[in-house]
Amino acid sequence: MKHTYADLGSAFSSPVQPQPLDNPELVSSNREVIEQLSLDSYSQEELTQLCNGSKPLNESSPVAMVYAGHQFGSWVSRLGDGRALLLGELHGADGKLYDLHLKGAGLTPYSRSGDGRAVLRSTIREYLCSEALHHLGIPTTRSLCLINSTTPVYREKTETGAAMIRVAESHVRFGTFEYFSYSKQHEQLQILADYVIWRHFPQWQDDESRVEKLLAEAVTRTAEMIALWQAAGWCHGVMNTDNMSILGHTIDYGPFGFLDGFDAGHICNHSDWQGRYAFNRQPEIGYWNCAALTQALLPILPAGQEKAEVILKTYPKAFASRYSSLLRAKFGLVTAQENDNKLIDPLFTHMQEEKTDYTVFFRALSQGNAEDVFIDRERFHAWHQKYQERLASEGRSEDEVRKGMLAANPKYILRNHLLQIAIDKAESGDYNEVQRLLDIMKKPFDEQPENESYAALPPEWAGELEISCSS
Ligand code: AMP
Ligand code: MG
Repeated sequence: MKHTYADLGSAFSSPVQPQPLDNPELVSSNREVIEQLSLDSYSQEELTQLCNGSKPLNESSPVAMVYAGHQFGSWVSRLGDGRALLLGELHGADGKLYDLHLKGAGLTPYSRSGDGRAVLRSTIREYLCSEALHHLGIPTTRSLCLINSTTPVYREKTETGAAMIRVAESHVRFGTFEYFSYSKQHEQLQILADYVIWRHFPQWQDDESRVEKLLAEAVTRTAEMIALWQAAGWCHGVMNTDNMSILGHTIDYGPFGFLDGFDAGHICNHSDWQGRYAFNRQPEIGYWNCAALTQALLPILPAGQEKAEVILKTYPKAFASRYSSLLRAKFGLVTAQENDNKLIDPLFTHMQEEKTDYTVFFRALSQGNAEDVFIDRERFHAWHQKYQERLASEGRSEDEVRKGMLAANPKYILRNHLLQIAIDKAESGDYNEVQRLLDIMKKPFDEQPENESYAALPPEWAGELEISCSS
């Protein structure tokens, strides 16, 4: 059994035994990830125990990882896994090594004022949304299994403790580098960088400029991940540097949300008073976070600050180029033309003014019935005429365009109200809806006639849901 991260030693993590919850009950398990990790031989009972920390993952000993981070722009010198443990590592069917990370496992040396627990509702949200994003083609941590328990956990009201195991190639964050950099542990900073390179980019191991390459890769991947979020209309909610994966994978799902009615300035996190992490600010915050990573890596970048800045400055272009190609695909366009922004911007203005549902609109556009989603249809028609001309200029068949658009514009997204319904049912002991949402979100681009209602516009109460940071 591998635990290469724990093997880095006590500067990087602390051994912690999970504290099992009472009367654990399996809420859901994810067949795909089970198979990917060759855990098929586990019975439901064994998965439940694994997720409850009462069955060790082979002989591996769990650790809590240390990190730091910029939270809402302010430096916090020590954070770390306050309620999660790295259980160990397993080889996937693809030959890659994966971390198994148990969230909700009890107190650790990094719990600060927290109780080390996670409640059912927040765990369901993370469990389902990681899978939803994965199936939309967005790099993310994955979900293995989820349990509920009878252990009381106190938030605004008494809730039940829950736990989930997530799976990722890495749980190293921008904040992990920041921790070693700002605490002047530069030797450990180099060890961390070499560890990440050894594990994920072994081809660079002997390269003198390997840290530069790592930075460049992190910058590009982050830009591209955020381009994918923007195109999907997805808001992370807490883009602190401790929630940014060094591999550019979406990690740490809290108050995230998909856009319902289009609102560029949408703030999905109820505690984000200033809208630092508003939907339309995500790209620049990604850049800000990459700047923080660049700063943290400076002590081990032999080429120095000037070169580091050149690397950092590749971010805007990487973002713009990925985002525009994703957006083109949503409109069924394959070539870039100079005036494309002039075509698209007025449409977004119209959508903003009418709060047109983002996902419903693009799906309808793919199917040729988008006018139905607008109030001012004349205004939409005028736009649509120009759009048709632009499409025609590419000379592709209608059928081809439509196929491409249906593959770029999902029908099913994990809207907050769908989650809320599943959470309400789960809190009263019925877990079927969680599994059902998981199944639906595995095929977001497919027509699923039996699940049509899950693609409908959100009910009015959806706008009143308030979701905040860690719970
Ligand atoms: P998050 O905003 O969820 O990324 O969490 C920020 C930091 O707070 C991380 O270091 C978490 O491990 C820690 N944390 C969040 N919730 C709890 C909790 N209930 N108990 C202990 N630590 C927590
Ligand atoms: Mg976090």
